[in-house]
Amino acid sequence: MRGGGRNVYPIYQFKKSILKMNRPDIKMVDLQGQYLRIKNEIDSAIQEVLMSTAFIQGPQVKSFTEALSKYNNGVHAITCANGTDALQIAMMALDLKVGDEVILPVHTYVATAEVIALLGLTPVFIDVDEKTFNIDVAQIESKITKKTKAIVPVHLYGQCADMEPILKIARRHNLHVIEDLAQAMGSDYTFSDGSVMRAGTMGVIGCTSFFPSKNLGAFGDAGAIFTTDASLAEKMKMISTHGQKVKYQHDIVGVNSRLDTLQAAILQVKLKYLDDYTLRRNKAAQYYDTHLAQVPFIELPYRAKNSTHVFHQYTLKTKNTDRDKLKKYLQEKGVPTMIYYHIPLHFQKAYHQKGFGEGSFPVTEKLSKTVLSLPIHTEMTEDELSYICETIQSYHG
Ligand SMILES: *Cc1c(COP(=O)(O)O)cnc(C)c1O
Repeated sequence: MRGGGRNVYPIYQFKKSILKMNRPDIKMVDLQGQYLRIKNEIDSAIQEVLMSTAFIQGPQVKSFTEALSKYNNGVHAITCANGTDALQIAMMALDLKVGDEVILPVHTYVATAEVIALLGLTPVFIDVDEKTFNIDVAQIESKITKKTKAIVPVHLYGQCADMEPILKIARRHNLHVIEDLAQAMGSDYTFSDGSVMRAGTMGVIGCTSFFPSKNLGAFGDAGAIFTTDASLAEKMKMISTHGQKVKYQHDIVGVNSRLDTLQAAILQVKLKYLDDYTLRRNKAAQYYDTHLAQVPFIELPYRAKNSTHVFHQYTLKTKNTDRDKLKKYLQEKGVPTMIYYHIPLHFQKAYHQKGFGEGSFPVTEKLSKTVLSLPIHTEMTEDELSYICETIQSYHG
């Protein structure tokens, strides 16, 4: 006879706890799951392009461009090869001259600064607001000089920068505003008079990316530009296709930055689901907000009152604990996390300028040591969310 009632119970408990520890397969983003839910639609859209062989400037590029324009309240849309090119084309279209200064937040993805430097312009970094992670509006005016030509607010992690004061400053100093909405497609900003505008439609130009992991993601590189100005729209379309309006007639210097027909066909299908994707991301964020509210060593993402959040990232800040140890602990328990961005731009070799020492941008420097982005995507299950929250709660840093 094996064992008595007494030692059966602990074995059962042991098994149960193993069961409980069965790790869901958690990913930062689940592009496969997202694809599988709309596989038929996507596959037939791809098939259509393959059979037509109209790989460059096929009809899907035009119809997707129209759908994009409609999504962003009717402003002009121009598609291009990626979000970095979108920013470059925007700056080329505004005729900025070598040596002109462009203001941008220092806490951003490298692409924002890269195109400025590439065109021979001078990036002028501004620290960010510790709560919103977006450009600290109060610091902009003190950095404006005679050479300043543009401000590039970045709507980081999915929430709009504080556009009303930014637009006011720009008007006062006659500056262009180019929005970088690569992380905030579909986010809405509310002005003090109650009017609501979409990310990418408030400045003279808005630039976005359809990198696969972005909120609206292609199956490769892709991007788009928005503008309310018809002549700028025309010019940016020309720049994106070798500076030509008529084939083989090149009126201005351009680049080769077309959106592939295949990507347009895929994006056209996915654009229909973007609002649902945003809802799903918000549900996951809400779950985190509720279940992590009591965890003492983290600060939850702040919700700005004047912007909706599309949760490209759900980014925590650690408090009085070693962020990297927490990250490692979570990794060991099967919870992936990411750090956006762990080396501030002013410490990057390519973007270092004279006088940029420790303490030049204290908020960004602090964020580089404390931010931690949790998995968030359109396919998250309650099991995954609860496992992630329980794992964070189990940490004793
Ligand atoms: C992704 C991203 C870009 C660049 O987009 P690509 O399509 O990768 O070139 C630019 N700015 C920000 C803030 C981004 O997140």
